[in-house]
Amino acid sequence: MQAPTDLPPAPATVAQGLALAQAQGLDRLDAQLLVLHALGQSAHDRAWLLAHDTDPLPPQAQATLTQAVRRRVAGEPLAYITGHKEFYGLDLVVDARVLVPRPDTETLVDWALEVLGERPGATVLDLGTGSGAIALALQATRADLQVHALDYSQHALAVAQGNARRLGLPVQFRQGSWLDGMTGCFDAIVSNPPYIAEADPHLAALAHEPPQALTSGADGLDDIRTIIRQAPAHLTPGGWLLLEHGYDQAPAVQALLQAAGLQAVQSRHDLGGIARCSGARLPGAIPTLAGGRPQDGG
Ligand code: GLN
Repeated sequence: MQAPTDLPPAPATVAQGLALAQAQGLDRLDAQLLVLHALGQSAHDRAWLLAHDTDPLPPQAQATLTQAVRRRVAGEPLAYITGHKEFYGLDLVVDARVLVPRPDTETLVDWALEVLGERPGATVLDLGTGSGAIALALQATRADLQVHALDYSQHALAVAQGNARRLGLPVQFRQGSWLDGMTGCFDAIVSNPPYIAEADPHLAALAHEPPQALTSGADGLDDIRTIIRQAPAHLTPGGWLLLEHGYDQAPAVQALLQAAGLQAVQSRHDLGGIARCSGARLPGAIPTLAGGRPQDGG
């Protein structure tokens, strides 16, 4: 049988593999990462590629690469193709059951670590954990924290629990719809919920990711409204609610936090300088380091 003429010949060497991927329209970095993936090598081995230009690509690697390039050209996130995404220095296994963790979300992790800094053994809850990225980053950084993570999707929880097992991190997972039926209070509640408006044209570029992890009603704020309504009853005195949101949603989220009776309403910027997270704390004293009981107050 004759191969269709519009298909490029199978790439026989590393250099040909890179050239094939770039000829299909991929940028240099994606091409390099897919060649490494096809060879079963770490994404950290890009320097290796330079020294091994003329190395042969085994037939299996050629087939894997050709398929991977096809998927990437069709817009699938690189992380789904390689099955891995680095977040906060952790190697997370991801697939189409979960949103690909974004570097911008590391802003939320940094902020949570800051507000939990004064509370040894603090409790924290990650709502809509997806791959487990936020919860696992917190637990990996602070072994003393009691980290809980929740998702509505059993499929997402399976991914998150797999990551926790692989990384040896004792995050406690549960299935649920935001704080419905939740008992107990947390020193911080954090979330990167779905926040894109249903008619947002940017969604076209995100077609491979789970829609339930991306969109939330006409203005994108439905889930954020629910979380802000429910969270105050589940925060310890002085406890913080920290939320990621869309690039233009900080004023709306701040207003919702204020209206819910929370204090110290503020936002944090992402790597692109956009107000990407907003949060506030429940009135009341922070328990002292000496283990004193929470005091009444403000
Ligand atoms: N930050 C993601 C994006 O806009 C969306 C993540 C989310 O909805 N939580 O690509």
